[in-house]
Amino acid sequence: MHNHYVGRFAPSPSGKLHFGSLVTAVASYLDAKSHNGKWLVRMEDIDEPRCIAGVDKDILAALEAHGLCWDDEVIYQSQQHARYQAVLDDLIEQHRAYFCTCTRRQIKAMDGMYNGHCRDKHIAPCDAVNCAVRLKMDDQLEAFIDVIMDNVEPDTSLPHTARAEDVVLKRRDGLFSYNLVVILDDVFQQVNHVIRGCDLIDVTPLQRAVYQTLGFTPPTYGHVPVAAVAPGRKLSKQNRAAPIDNTTALDNIVRVMNFLGFAFPNASEFDGVDSALNHAISMWDRKKVVKTAEIIVPQHESTYYSGPL
Ligand SMILES: [Zn+2]
Repeated sequence: MHNHYVGRFAPSPSGKLHFGSLVTAVASYLDAKSHNGKWLVRMEDIDEPRCIAGVDKDILAALEAHGLCWDDEVIYQSQQHARYQAVLDDLIEQHRAYFCTCTRRQIKAMDGMYNGHCRDKHIAPCDAVNCAVRLKMDDQLEAFIDVIMDNVEPDTSLPHTARAEDVVLKRRDGLFSYNLVVILDDVFQQVNHVIRGCDLIDVTPLQRAVYQTLGFTPPTYGHVPVAAVAPGRKLSKQNRAAPIDNTTALDNIVRVMNFLGFAFPNASEFDGVDSALNHAISMWDRKKVVKTAEIIVPQHESTYYSGPL
């Protein structure tokens, strides 16, 4: 019997899996499996204009090639709109969320942090044209214990993280916001452990406050280092991240384990990805993951980069 641990990997199908996203996939998988948990995969295709047809299948094939078998069905955010809208409608009806007409320029004039300007304007749904929907936040942002990075304080140097601003749930252009759907999906899928890249650590205090405002218990968080091309620039399709090569899956797993800080045996010690993953599960230890927000990967290594250097 498993102990109700539910974890997940939630890629955005805007580009093929690269080394950086494989690190997150493997780390979340190992944390789940070493706790006898479930490991779910969710396609974060809410920002549909950025998604590329067929990339979801490439990502799933890459996960399979690396022995990363998910539990349950893969869910797609693009197919969940009715569920998101129902939550939004309830929040508006209960006056816990409201319509906001402020433009980007007006918000900029508020020193970059939304000041609740439309909170008490009581814009009715029928008058809400070209409006964002915001959640009334009353909580302060709090520090939390990250199971990998230890104590994490809210970054008060960023205006929008200094305290909980009334977060956008639906954008003026009609798209549901990432901060809403990631939480609704994790709640819907009963995810209680989120292992992901350090690029999302700064937004975590805000997401925890949204959980509390919505009346849900936040999951346990753990953040692993991100692979970067230069300080502050994570490996991504935009900066020539090479798609992961499925024919070298075993080597890739070894490379990921070394990247995360484990003294892992050479690929020749294993007869395939499954035996390597089983070994990785047995040696997985959150305390041994290197506590660095990002690690620069070498430019000359074709494993990480594609195209001319
Ligand atoms: Zn407003």
